[in-house]
Amino acid sequence: MRNSKKTVEKHNIHVKSGDKVVVISGKDKGKVSSVKKVITSENKVVVEGLNIVTKAQRAQGGNQGGLIKMEAAMDSSKVMLYCPACEKATRIKYDVVDNKKVRICKKCGEKLD
Ligand SMILES: [Zn+2]
Repeated sequence: MRNSKKTVEKHNIHVKSGDKVVVISGKDKGKVSSVKKVITSENKVVVEGLNIVTKAQRAQGGNQGGLIKMEAAMDSSKVMLYCPACEKATRIKYDVVDNKKVRICKKCGEKLD
């Protein structure tokens, strides 16, 4: 999968690793979990325990081959930040507290950082 025209572009992803998110589309719609990894170059996120795919692994060295289950990355647009106070997906706004940028739930004002 090489494409010489493609430049490595950093997308600005609205969530970061460790964030609680809600999946808003796809087979895991409505589920809440935390972000395991953010892949800015692909605009994708890996969410803990969700979007599981089964991959065949070839036997290698002393390891037996077989099927392994792993989390596949999903488009970052498929997840929204979860607000524990509202108990649902929320939109966020940014505010500056003690010179730090923090994310705040637009609905209830809860700090999400
Ligand atoms: Zn809230």
